[in-house]
Amino acid sequence: MEYIQEYSELKFQGIKINYLYVCKRKLWLFSKNITFENWSDRVLLGKILHEYSYPKEETKEVLIDNLIRIDILSDGAVREVKHSSKMKEADIMQVMYYLYYLKQKGIQKQGIINYPKERRKEVLDLTPEYEEKVKQALKEIEEITKKPVPPPATKQRICKSCAYFEFCWG
Ligand code: SF4
Repeated sequence: MEYIQEYSELKFQGIKINYLYVCKRKLWLFSKNITFENWSDRVLLGKILHEYSYPKEETKEVLIDNLIRIDILSDGAVREVKHSSKMKEADIMQVMYYLYYLKQKGIQKQGIINYPKERRKEVLDLTPEYEEKVKQALKEIEEITKKPVPPPATKQRICKSCAYFEFCWG
């Protein structure tokens, strides 16, 4: 039980890191548990991609979520599956955070981001530069989520596919 809770917390923080790089307003809304992600087609697509792309691979799924999954592969790498590489830096930072977190526990792992639709993958190692970036990101997340109101909505390309679209622009 404790194990599941710890990983839920880990995943929650990982998503926040991702959103910090996608949209700070999205990060704030998500951190307050204002979430519509369950209903978005994108989430469903992610689930389907995951289930059909790796049916035989032996994995130990340590976390299941409607949005993002974290797998520990048989070789010990931490894996994320994403439906597109449009937000690559956000995805990389999310995985770097997991690697950073594991490192604090004395566990050194590689990270893998699979983009099954694009038939490619990124293999990641936690570098000192990324470690520093993760620390900065965690500080920034704290500052943003402490604020009583969300940052203003700013129109950007990803808004159209964002689960908060109606909320921000409806
Ligand atoms: S709709 Fe746009 S501004 Fe609103 S949370 Fe999503 S990405 Fe941010």
